[in-house]
Amino acid sequence: MLNELTIKEAQEKLKNKEISSVDLVKACLERIKKTDEKVKACVSVLEEGALVEAKKADERIAKGEWEELLGIPYIAKDNIMTRGVRTTASSKILENYIAPYDATIIKKIKAAGGILIAKANLDEFAHGASTENSAFGTTHNPWDLSRVPGGSSGGSAAAVAANMCIFALGTDTGGSIRCPASFCGVVGMKPTYGRASRFGLIAMTSSTDVPGPITKTIEDTAIIQKIISGTDKNDLTTVDEKIDDYQEEIQKDIKGLKIGLPKEFFEEGIDAGVADSLNSAIEKLKELGAEFVDISLPNTKYAVPVYYIVTPSEVSSNLARFDGIRYGLSDQGGSDLFDIYAHSRGKGLGPEAKRRIMLGTYALSAGYYDAYYLKAQKVRTLIKQEMDEALKKVDLILTPTSPHTAFKIGEQSNDPLKMYLEDIFVTSASLAGLPAVSVPCGFSDGLPVGMQLIGSRFDEKTILRVAKKYEENSEKAELKT
Ligand code: GLN
Repeated sequence: MLNELTIKEAQEKLKNKEISSVDLVKACLERIKKTDEKVKACVSVLEEGALVEAKKADERIAKGEWEELLGIPYIAKDNIMTRGVRTTASSKILENYIAPYDATIIKKIKAAGGILIAKANLDEFAHGASTENSAFGTTHNPWDLSRVPGGSSGGSAAAVAANMCIFALGTDTGGSIRCPASFCGVVGMKPTYGRASRFGLIAMTSSTDVPGPITKTIEDTAIIQKIISGTDKNDLTTVDEKIDDYQEEIQKDIKGLKIGLPKEFFEEGIDAGVADSLNSAIEKLKELGAEFVDISLPNTKYAVPVYYIVTPSEVSSNLARFDGIRYGLSDQGGSDLFDIYAHSRGKGLGPEAKRRIMLGTYALSAGYYDAYYLKAQKVRTLIKQEMDEALKKVDLILTPTSPHTAFKIGEQSNDPLKMYLEDIFVTSASLAGLPAVSVPCGFSDGLPVGMQLIGSRFDEKTILRVAKKYEENSEKAELKT
């Protein structure tokens, strides 16, 4: 089936004119029609526009023109601005908001010929680890519809797992690409902070937000990461670092590479099935020539508490722009300007967004700033230094992406603390700004397990290289739906 193709396969078939972009786009749209009633990965489907673009792509290919993604359909998380297309961040406050410009990464994918076919569901404003916080309903995990797909890029990961598209884009602030990639059995990478532009992402935590690819294979992640990387005058936190040819780098072997195993990530609370899968992966990597080194990252145990001070603080500031005046839902009832703010935000924002605004406003308030925000930033620096130090001794760090596989829908949606603890293995790399990829690593009771590889700053190439060797030497299970 055409919708099952990887980017690499689709490129070759399109280039050789074995298939047309119209057929490829149609196959994905058909798949969405057939499965999305149950999976609910998409908030908007752009059928007409996508087919027009596919026709144009076919005409260009017929003329002998070529771009890396020419004619290839993809889905973007709905907190990424897409010009002329509804962009909701899965929030009621932006329910009818049409983005006036493209995010830089969307521009880059467009320039490479990619065709946007849908916008994917997420936890409202990317706050969550299950995609249950969306104002437009929960996304279901295609491997087991009674379970969550992970979050917050749950729609993007579920869409890739269910072959509704060839690849997807997500955002990761504290695990939001890696967690759903792990739960849905696909590849998800958070590049180094500063590697790809944040311009046009609906801001959550500006100091950790990064966009990244969600794909079926490591090679596909290599392709997309190369395209979306680079500096941008609209995002001054992007860094002018060499962009490696990841596709070439992943061909290299991994003999002698040193992989650190931080004991804190393997100690307690990990499901037996996840531990077994990780241990087999470690054995496999040893056979392939990697060396393992036991390391310790004692400060990472503070990552979740630090993250849940830093994130709400930045969220409370970033969400201030949704005031009922400039964007989206506006409730004009009441008697003065304050009423417009209060009523619009009261009606438009969901419970988790409100919780974070309250927590963040508190942590930043005059009497508490030093005790919470400032202290959290200091501990964040310790976490960053500790990880940087460890990465001087090893080439990369290996951990589980999550302590368990996908949990049941509703199982912990009423327990915010438990939901925050979902991020236990993923927030450290976010706070430290390091690149990290989640790679499918076997199954536990029929549900996908994810392995996380964390690299040094701007060293995406090494984690992708190890991931690729592992992928080549492990079995890939096909999703049957
Ligand atoms: N679970 C994290 C949170 O709720 C992840 C968010 C993200 O990466 N966007 O904040």
